[in-house]
Amino acid sequence: MSECLFCRIVAGEIPADVVFEDEQVLVFKDINPKAEVHLLAIPKLHVASLNELDTSHDALLAHMMHLLPRIARDQGLENGFRTIINTGAGGGQIVFHLHMHLLGGDRLPGFE
Ligand code: AMP
Ligand code: ZN
Repeated sequence: MSECLFCRIVAGEIPADVVFEDEQVLVFKDINPKAEVHLLAIPKLHVASLNELDTSHDALLAHMMHLLPRIARDQGLENGFRTIINTGAGGGQIVFHLHMHLLGGDRLPGFE
């Protein structure tokens, strides 16, 4: 059993409120939402953070970036959305499985 929280969500060992899934990517609601809409988009492949990426991940990353506006629209965020990637402890990263925060709607937080 993986010790990585998000790998365990991918494996179905921990429940999540999934809004989108394909072969490579899982998108689910953040358990502690910081805005009206707060989703996390993760690769199913375990990559700890941006620091661990190499060119073998290029297609996966492009795929994830292209998905974000589609998912934002599906969530009713016609006016726009914010994406955040925290990297390393100094960047505020708590879960060390790469994830893109997608935030929008009311209560959109600043960069504090
Ligand atoms: P970060 O600080 O970028 O590592 O963000 C980790 C995010 O994961 C936080 O916004 C948490 O609220 C969220 N989170 C932690 N555990 C879960 C979980 N079991 N399901 C959904 N989101 C989670
Ligand atoms: Zn993982």
